[in-house]
Amino acid sequence: MSKRTVADIEVKGRRVLLRVDFNVPLNIETGDISDDSRIRASLPTIKYLVDQRAKVILCSHLGRPKGKVVENLRMAPIAQRLSQLIGLPVGTAPDCIGQDVEGKARALKEGDVLILENLRFHPEEEANAPDFARKLARLADIYVNDAFGTAHRAHASTVGVAKHLPAVAGFLMVKELEVMGQLLHNPEQPFACLIGGAKVSDKIELLQNMLRKVDMLLVGGGMAATFLKTQGYEVGHSLIEDDKLGLAKKLLQEAEEWKVPFLLPIDAVVAKEIKAGAPTRVVPTTNVPSGSHIVDIGPKSIELFRSKLEGCRTVIWNGPMGIYEIPQFAQGTRSLASFLSTLNATTVIGGGSSAEVVQEMGLTDKMTHVSTGGGASLRFLEGAALPGVEVLLDREQ
Ligand code: ADP
Ligand code: MG
Repeated sequence: MSKRTVADIEVKGRRVLLRVDFNVPLNIETGDISDDSRIRASLPTIKYLVDQRAKVILCSHLGRPKGKVVENLRMAPIAQRLSQLIGLPVGTAPDCIGQDVEGKARALKEGDVLILENLRFHPEEEANAPDFARKLARLADIYVNDAFGTAHRAHASTVGVAKHLPAVAGFLMVKELEVMGQLLHNPEQPFACLIGGAKVSDKIELLQNMLRKVDMLLVGGGMAATFLKTQGYEVGHSLIEDDKLGLAKKLLQEAEEWKVPFLLPIDAVVAKEIKAGAPTRVVPTTNVPSGSHIVDIGPKSIELFRSKLEGCRTVIWNGPMGIYEIPQFAQGTRSLASFLSTLNATTVIGGGSSAEVVQEMGLTDKMTHVSTGGGASLRFLEGAALPGVEVLLDREQ
């Protein structure tokens, strides 16, 4: 890890602004948190700071308030849940900047925990406005970023603020970067990449970058249809990105040049309509009826993918194999998730939907790592630099 971490800096008695990603799924009406894994993921950093007698000031965004105060997106329910989890009181603030909040921050005692109001109540947060960043920085002596899930965004609380304070990585950030860095630079082989999801355009850079690193690529989900079409197959009404056919073809050629097996589904579940209860059929992908959509990979493809993944020592999975939101079309996604959880291999799940499935099936602990950042992990595995990581202090600095 080339970045300095919270363990490398004296925090006792100092006010620490800790950027976390507490953007949890929330029932807007009741304020119930349906999944608190993002809060739990930052507990090691929070507990460490409390144990070290720092004055902890947490900040996060929640939902999409679009620069305005939205009552249902206040941080209060999050503060409550965090308080239960750490067994300590967690103070709340009326805002995330301003004199009131500065007063609260200055009044903190060693080991106290305060959570600021939703950062995105201010449009300046996402705009990375310098003045807003300066005001955030005024609250603290040290900045710690543990919000891996937001590290691909250059916002005031992820990038701007780091100009004004010593900036280091939290333990979750470190873990995410280490696990995924290992995949990119030194994976145990054979190494397979299982990719799905809706669109080729979302995953093209990922496919391109991983192609040079893996021993095989397995592609399912909506995007498989675009690849099947470039090979001359009929794909009916399946989701196709016509403007990406050229890129898809080029990618298949590159895989051939690099001698990386590029596996596509050999059969598919098709339906005339994308809705629960729609009648389905399993067909070979060479024979998709013209009036239907591919909604999932078929049983033979599940078998094929399993047999290929079987002997792998490292597997990264990003994106569902079908329209898993409809239980009838979730078989491919769910059975591969279960299968991955049984492998004697490093298994890393990156991607919001894939992580959601793993979480919902209770398989999180059976995987090596389930990333807390869908978009951020995607960017990282594409080989891109993450702005929120770039601004942190380097080890030798
Ligand atoms: P992740 O969040 O894991 O990276 P994506 O965001 O790329 O995954 O894609 C998730 C979406 O892909 C889901 O909403 C799912 O319904 C959709 N999807 C998967 N397979 C298909 C398909 N065959 N046709 C249309 N959409 C699909
Ligand atoms: Mg997604």
